[in-house]
Amino acid sequence: MDEEPGAGCPPPPMARPAPGTTNGHYDRGVPDCSFCGIAAGGIPATIVLDGKRIIAFRDLNPQAPTHVLVVPRDHFPNVAELAAAGGGLLDEVVAAAREVAAADGIEASGYRIVFNTGQDGGQTVGHVHAHVLGGRSMAWPPG
Ligand code: AMP
Ligand code: ZN
Repeated sequence: MDEEPGAGCPPPPMARPAPGTTNGHYDRGVPDCSFCGIAAGGIPATIVLDGKRIIAFRDLNPQAPTHVLVVPRDHFPNVAELAAAGGGLLDEVVAAAREVAAADGIEASGYRIVFNTGQDGGQTVGHVHAHVLGGRSMAWPPG
């Protein structure tokens, strides 16, 4: 019996499925997402941690002596979607936040980890990121 042409061959490299989502996780960089751009190296940033699944870089508009954003390379819209996806990535974000604090010498003095979520939460970039803030005393309640 004749096989169809191409049967058994791997698909050509460009024949990938269109971007889709699973549990809020986009399977590749989202166009127009600046943090996907930073993760891909196309947008410059002051990187302080460059991991397999996580990057961290200094915030462009720092609100404290240490103000670093810890970001999964893969695109999730917010921390709730990241948590729902499982896979230990949220744990890695928190561990990376601790590494950032230690590297900046603020682990002992203390720091704040913030996930602004949604409009009333003050989220302006729709790619999940943990703010790591420290180097000064933080006020409570937040504004
Ligand atoms: P949020 O408002 O919680 O979504 O936080 C977004 C943060 O990203 C803000 O603190 C911005 O200053 C910061 N930000 C936006 N674009 C960049 C960028 N290209 N590099 C570094 N920080 C950025
Ligand atoms: Zn993104």
